[in-house]
Amino acid sequence: MKKIAIIVFMIMFSKESFALRVERIPQPCSVCGHEEEVLMTLSGNSFGARMYLDSRIHGPMVPRPHLATCSSCNLVSYNISTPICDRQAEIVNSENYQEIFKTDGASMAYVHLLKECGRDNEEIASFYLRTAWGEDDKVTGQSVFFRKLAIPLYEQFSDIESRLVLLDLYRQTQSFDKATELLSNINIPEDNCIMQEVIKMQRKLIANENSDPAMLEKDACK
Ligand SMILES: [Zn+2]
Repeated sequence: MKKIAIIVFMIMFSKESFALRVERIPQPCSVCGHEEEVLMTLSGNSFGARMYLDSRIHGPMVPRPHLATCSSCNLVSYNISTPICDRQAEIVNSENYQEIFKTDGASMAYVHLLKECGRDNEEIASFYLRTAWGEDDKVTGQSVFFRKLAIPLYEQFSDIESRLVLLDLYRQTQSFDKATELLSNINIPEDNCIMQEVIKMQRKLIANENSDPAMLEKDACK
């Protein structure tokens, strides 16, 4: 998970200053060849961005990937024109995949595809987390569902960034006992100001049994 944290911090502190550009671009589906118009972020920047306690960098112009669906064969992918693995067409055309797509929706179909393609738990865990963020934005009430799916995966990761994400997953799913226990077992490097701030805020929020998404103070560590 370290790579993700580094990318996140690079986005946060990058100096580019161009506006967010999202456009509909026609893309050929790598399963059935159907040309689908998909949303793509062409450019963006970190202006006005803030960091949430679960590592999300959010701002009006922060680029984010768009999960696309082919309306002809139901392939779900961030890039429908590039196969995720060699078996992609076979998986997408299977009854199992199509059933999951219809019953559980596009996100769960994508998880099935990742698993069948042999992708690792880190990728699936961060997909659940990102999906929860999207659900937060849409206020669908589904974000807790995806955070609960992410928890058993993050419990397997021992790096400090993942522990901090897990702490927030516990808090936002109201598992305050687990959050309190984890809080007492996390050792934050003393010279890491942002992580120290995250822990300080978590202590307060967990003590108050507050499960809302929360972000760092605007001027934290500047
Ligand atoms: Zn297709």
